[in-house]
Amino acid sequence: MNKYCPRDLYDNTADFYEAVVRLYIRRLDIHVKKWYKSLNAASYIAFQDSKTVMLPVPKNRTAFLICLHEIGHIAEGWHEISYVNEYLAEMYAISEAKKWNIDTEAYEIKAKQYVLAHLVKDWNANRIKTVKKDIKEWLDVNPTKWKGHQLQLNEDFSISKLK
Ligand SMILES: [Zn+2]
Repeated sequence: MNKYCPRDLYDNTADFYEAVVRLYIRRLDIHVKKWYKSLNAASYIAFQDSKTVMLPVPKNRTAFLICLHEIGHIAEGWHEISYVNEYLAEMYAISEAKKWNIDTEAYEIKAKQYVLAHLVKDWNANRIKTVKKDIKEWLDVNPTKWKGHQLQLNEDFSISKLK
């Protein structure tokens, strides 16, 4: 992959990020309906049926990883359980970014919190009774302790049981 966008071909990191994102967009035949110039997490979206996305301009690493996350939704297809859907997109973003030698350590912490928030919503809505093994290990959670309880996600991203 790196041979298509060699890092040293670009004067600055933002141009490199943009070239990489455009490479995925071409490869996956994705339509970008809108590029957002500012980071506003609520606005980014992927429509899997029409392969349409709305993305931040990838001018920094966070925006670049968000682009890969939304592209991941297209690449991985739709999963009806939301925490699994978000997990697949996060795994795609992280593993693809690593192929370009981009440090994902800080992003991965946010990604875990994001998937955990979706997991708690799915659990409290009784959409799930268990957590997939690989996701359980990645999040380091123990759902057997949660049986029969509603959950609360605390500000520090720990989980408390409600009655
Ligand atoms: Zn997502």
